[in-house]
Amino acid sequence: MAEITLRNLSIQFGAFKAVDDVSLTVKNGEFVVYLGPSGCGKTTTLRCIAGLVKATSGDVLFDGAAVNDLSASERNIAMVFQFVSLYPHLSIKENIVFPLKARGVARAEITRKLDWVTDIFKLGDELARYPGALPPGARQKVALARAVIRDPAVLLLDEPLSAIDEQFREEMRWELGHLQRQLGVTTIYVTHDQREAMSLADRIVLMNNSRIVQVSNPDRMFFEPVDIFAGQFIGSPSMNLIDLAPVEGGLRLGDSDVTLTAARDRLPDWALSSKRPLKLGVRPLNVHLTDDPAAGVAIAVDDVFSIGRERFFSFRIGDTIHQGVDKRRSPSGSVMRVHFDPDGLLFFDAATGRRVD
Ligand code: ATP
Repeated sequence: MAEITLRNLSIQFGAFKAVDDVSLTVKNGEFVVYLGPSGCGKTTTLRCIAGLVKATSGDVLFDGAAVNDLSASERNIAMVFQFVSLYPHLSIKENIVFPLKARGVARAEITRKLDWVTDIFKLGDELARYPGALPPGARQKVALARAVIRDPAVLLLDEPLSAIDEQFREEMRWELGHLQRQLGVTTIYVTHDQREAMSLADRIVLMNNSRIVQVSNPDRMFFEPVDIFAGQFIGSPSMNLIDLAPVEGGLRLGDSDVTLTAARDRLPDWALSSKRPLKLGVRPLNVHLTDDPAAGVAIAVDDVFSIGRERFFSFRIGDTIHQGVDKRRSPSGSVMRVHFDPDGLLFFDAATGRRVD
């Protein structure tokens, strides 16, 4: 196991900075998930840790020692990609022990290690079969078993579940989290799927435009996003964003005549007194319909849809469509009022996108 540190890491391809001054420490045994939209620099970071891409500036350290000049094979890492590359002409057993054989490990040790991973990954029945005979989920498990059999210091996983059918992905995700905790190996996992990140990570590293936006555990990432991007990237349906204009006694909501007085207690003085335009972030789960004529904002229910038991509705404030949860099953077209849970309100600076509350 190893502690991995990225120190002011930048990676440039020609004029393009794919990774821009990133610093992070992944603790021994920790499961860290890199999350972010396509092209934000996740894979490039992972490949640099692996020794497959050179840092333009900054350092990668394993247990405090810079590994910039070590090749991939000298770094004792194991990497599993989206598409598994098992040797089709070798049995599952031969595939799994391949890295040990290639290093000339003694036969007794190979048997011991094989028993160990077979047991952990529950691959006993598959050992004599060939990769072509296994479904993608099982092949991915074999790839993981092959990756960890030689006790890597670090396990690097790049979208390892995205080529697996939806129905098996969930199960594999659960198993993978369980296995990682059993193995205790420092793991860095790249995905653009927030559900994978939320369910697997000790800590999520959220990236956008080649930089780290936020590093925190899944709960904090959800409840305390540092900016609008983080707030909207995590959570589904996405966080609503509503314009706020500073007025006497509070903040006016969109183009409504409603003043959010609660905002006064939540916001620092500078945010209110500077009269900077702000935005209110509120997740659909914190938006409800009410009959109380004194509460909330008047709206018309635009559309309704269900995800499982949860029933959502959409409505407009001005030109912008927002979403909420409707426990009462109101038909579309109903004219009602929406109410926001006070502790679900997030305030952002409209110009910089940063959280201000
Ligand atoms: P994805 O999920 O799409 O892989 P990502 O966040 O992992 O996204 P990267 O693969 O790290 O993104 O790529 C970041 C950017 O760097 C992209 O714009 C990509 O085109 C660019 N890039 C990556 N590798 C190279 C390379 N070898 N040469 C030039 N540009 C590259």
